[in-house]
Amino acid sequence: MSKFWSPAIRSLVPYTPGEQPKVLNLIKLNTNENPYPPAPGVTDVIREFDTSRLRLYPDPDASILKQGLAEYHNIDKSQVFVGNGSDEVLALAFMAFFRHGTPLLMPETTYSFYEVYCDLFNIDADKIPLNANFEINLDDYTSENTGIIFANPNAPTGIAITLDEIETLLKRNTETLVLVDEAYVDFGANSAIALINQYPNLLVSHTFSKSRSLAGMRVGCAFGHPDLIAGLERVKNSFNSYPLDMLAIASATESLKDETYFQTTCRRIQSTREQVSNELNNLGFNVLPSAANFIFASHPNYDAKELMQYLRDKNILVRHFTRAGIDQFLRITIGTDAEMSELITALKTHIH
Ligand code: PMP
Repeated sequence: MSKFWSPAIRSLVPYTPGEQPKVLNLIKLNTNENPYPPAPGVTDVIREFDTSRLRLYPDPDASILKQGLAEYHNIDKSQVFVGNGSDEVLALAFMAFFRHGTPLLMPETTYSFYEVYCDLFNIDADKIPLNANFEINLDDYTSENTGIIFANPNAPTGIAITLDEIETLLKRNTETLVLVDEAYVDFGANSAIALINQYPNLLVSHTFSKSRSLAGMRVGCAFGHPDLIAGLERVKNSFNSYPLDMLAIASATESLKDETYFQTTCRRIQSTREQVSNELNNLGFNVLPSAANFIFASHPNYDAKELMQYLRDKNILVRHFTRAGIDQFLRITIGTDAEMSELITALKTHIH
């Protein structure tokens, strides 16, 4: 610690991402990456990229990508924001919208970055426990003049809520900005983008890291009323007016063009998820119903941390959280069928 650290960072507990091993022969099921490569067209775009253009700044508006996203979701470009991964988009949203001196409502168990941003930006967090089935109960979320944030599907549980529930929440809290983080929505939930034209208090964030296999590129986006997007642009331009590099803009734009590849890989992950859930159930695990590209599972007779270590020794990485209430669970990313069958084989030799 240095005497120059501000009080906010002195007490800050930074987010720790899952281990990114330097060796490649591990089965990596710990950070919810997609096991399949990005759409083939992305490789062509990168191969054919004219590197002499790199001396120029990228388009600060990332217009091509915003236009592509607007067409993809059948909305207007003024309803689209893009940033360097949805982590950055969320950070900018916290700065732009949640610093009102009133608490931000969020589930107690959710993506832990939300709490880190609250600490960093001096925002009070009002954390609402999940119910006994690890579900978000939207009846618990009523607030005036502040914000509500949740992930749908939630992380790390994988459990999704319906669009009807989100709409009820929006109607009940018209003076409150509701931010729905849809990082995993393409694996089985319905997107609230369908509601942005009706609800000016709704902001929806997406990422290219999961369903579009571009985690290494760092591309995220948000959708909402043009006034909300203008607020995000204002903060972005005061912070880093060029959030996306040229290759990221070109690659993300290209990935939107191959709907068949996108649907095929998402559906493949969903079917692997259902199969693995069944096999884990057969081994005695309690598996939460997941709409995401990961599953959250606990075993009544085995300690989750020890199981994580056992799998680690077998070169299989899964995620364990030490947070009270979920420390008996493992979060397992859905990999290829071959990877998942190695996981199941390893568990079968250990669990009796
Ligand atoms: N939201 C949730 C719920 C996540 O799990 C993640 C990935 N860790 C993100 C947002 C951020 O993803 P990215 O910054 O790669 O877009």
